[in-house]
Amino acid sequence: MKKLTIAVAILVMVCVGASSVAAMSHGAAGPKIFWTASGLFGPLPISVLLPSYPKDQDHDIMIPINMWIIDHPMGLIVFDTGNNVAISDGNCTSHWNEGFCGLLQPSQTRADVIDKILEKVGFSVGDVKIVITSHSHLDHIGNIEMFPDAIHVIQKKELYQAWWPEKFQRGGAHVVADYDDARDFTYFELDGDYDLFGDGSVVIISTPGHTLGHQSVKVRMADTGTVILTQDAVWVKENLEGHPAGLNYSILDYTNSVNRIKMIRDIENAQVWMGHSMEQYEAMGEKWYQ
Ligand SMILES: [Zn+2]
Ligand SMILES: [Zn+2]
Repeated sequence: MKKLTIAVAILVMVCVGASSVAAMSHGAAGPKIFWTASGLFGPLPISVLLPSYPKDQDHDIMIPINMWIIDHPMGLIVFDTGNNVAISDGNCTSHWNEGFCGLLQPSQTRADVIDKILEKVGFSVGDVKIVITSHSHLDHIGNIEMFPDAIHVIQKKELYQAWWPEKFQRGGAHVVADYDDARDFTYFELDGDYDLFGDGSVVIISTPGHTLGHQSVKVRMADTGTVILTQDAVWVKENLEGHPAGLNYSILDYTNSVNRIKMIRDIENAQVWMGHSMEQYEAMGEKWYQ
């Protein structure tokens, strides 16, 4: 029995070794991610973002508007397109309502917009095969109209959310002018999780709650390992510590999605790359990962 156990252990070691070699050689041609941002919001009190945050510890924070460019052998992907180009360089009220401009204080310059970022890293908007949109809020879907030739991957429910948001989410967070000319684009309308290339390298993870059809993306890279690009399923680390975000379609679905991300993190030993963490962006933003 003991011999058998040792034999099995050796077999497992050989297999694990072989598969990691396979993963590495595959990884050479696997996905790479460029972490960038459509400028910053703030300063704004953390208690405005997280209503349950202890009032005696309230403080102002800045937040990045994260976007990720995924360079995959099967095609170039953009995950979220940031704030609309029109709000760049101090022209916020030309496209957003005054209340949101005053609250969020976006600092986006023209150079921070996704088309310019793509150029900076050697691509153009026409090179993008797939645009994944986490959800239809103004800081995530803002430049979808720059990509008329791409395949747009979004949850079907999020399209409903975009066109007829609940009253409490109207008048600010959804700017219909961001996407009203994108109605006839090519949409891959999802209903839940989806393995984009059928090989586990890029997997759409359904994370509703923040909005009706919010989705996150899990990417497996050769050197960096598995990462979950949460976008607004997790804004900042405090959301993982029991302080939910303040703007939610459903707090129950939101909490379930946060717990789901934690489970994937723990089971797959994945990194959680959050939607609006300044701490993370300062340490990891504007770099390539592979
Ligand atoms: Zn949002
Ligand atoms: Zn956001």
